[in-house]
Amino acid sequence: MSNFEKIQQTDKQYVANTYGRFPVAIEKGKGATCYDFDGKKYIDFSSGIGVNSLGFCDEGWVEAVTKQLTTLQHISNLYYTSPCAEAAKLLCERTGMKKVFFSNSGAESNEGAIKCARKYSLMKYGEGRSKILTLNNSFHGRTVTTLAATGQDVFHNFFFPFTEGFEFTPANDPDALKKALEDSSVCALMMEVIQGEGGVMPLDEAFVKEAERLCREKDILLIIDEVQTGVGRTGKLFAFEHYGISPDIVTTAKGLGGGLPLGCVMFGERTENVLVAGDHATTFGGNPVATAGAKYILEKMDAAFLDGVAEKGEYIRSRLEKMPHVLGCDGKGMMIGVRLDSEVKAADIVKKGIENGVLALTAKVKLRLLPPLTITFAEIDEGLDAIEKALEEI
Ligand SMILES: *Cc1c(COP(=O)(O)O)cnc(C)c1O
Repeated sequence: MSNFEKIQQTDKQYVANTYGRFPVAIEKGKGATCYDFDGKKYIDFSSGIGVNSLGFCDEGWVEAVTKQLTTLQHISNLYYTSPCAEAAKLLCERTGMKKVFFSNSGAESNEGAIKCARKYSLMKYGEGRSKILTLNNSFHGRTVTTLAATGQDVFHNFFFPFTEGFEFTPANDPDALKKALEDSSVCALMMEVIQGEGGVMPLDEAFVKEAERLCREKDILLIIDEVQTGVGRTGKLFAFEHYGISPDIVTTAKGLGGGLPLGCVMFGERTENVLVAGDHATTFGGNPVATAGAKYILEKMDAAFLDGVAEKGEYIRSRLEKMPHVLGCDGKGMMIGVRLDSEVKAADIVKKGIENGVLALTAKVKLRLLPPLTITFAEIDEGLDAIEKALEEI
């Protein structure tokens, strides 16, 4: 039996069968390059679904995390720690948001945002104004409540009853949004400015601006889910910056910990004091090791770094658009959705890509690339060569 087969056999026997895994087990990595247990090399265009923002085992990040790990790995949220405070300060200074609640995941961040929005409305307007509007084709997480918030029917099976108080409206349809917001029971609008799992679908600038205006008019909170788009992924620290809006609540997770489980909810001026002691908590949230890593990542993502993300994204797009079967690319920065013609399936390109030594993703019918933001041009070319080969061979 190969190393891989041994791992696969144990995993199949003991790990819950909730993932359709590819027949690969990754052992180690550096930068955007990793190796499986039988020594085969891969270029990583996935970052563990947008998580390893600085790639595998970035030296500075490892040092920051290790230093904290060997100093104090955890203490409860009943005490102050420096990394938690410092990471929150950086997030606020860089976004204009006022306060941060740290969580462990994207879904948990969105739960915090939903709780805050409902309390804000209850305290100000009383009962009966608790509905959260989200967009068709959105994705907000896998808990019973964030599944209810997710605007895709495929997720609304088996687990009834879902949390009540969610309704959906089509993306990029300002008239439908206006109508939906006339419902006086709505307290918040939650949306991704680029829908990730929904197929890398950017919202129109006019729609996002109009959404902000309509929300302001009625004191409806604007929640932006940046779990996938946040922390440099699109060439800005947060994707809402592309749209020139000021959300009331921003959630993020994936790239924030650079590979450690960390998410957060950021509160703006109207929401910073809504949740108070006893309202909301989480045992691991703001863990010093994870936040020490986040602090390192946020410090690293200066203007030059973010320009580099945009530049690499452009380069990747320009090469992809010359490849066979490619109709075009959606997304921003290094969040890239590749539209393919009907002769090929994105899932087959991913499979073939693995054979050729590249790890890529799909999002609905598109090929999705989320390379580590630190990827080098040499790695980009090597990965793109493998994708090009897959597109030619298929
Ligand atoms: C991945 C994702 C989530 C869920 O994050 P988890 O960490 O898996 O809970 C929520 N919203 C968006 C936009 C995501 O991409």
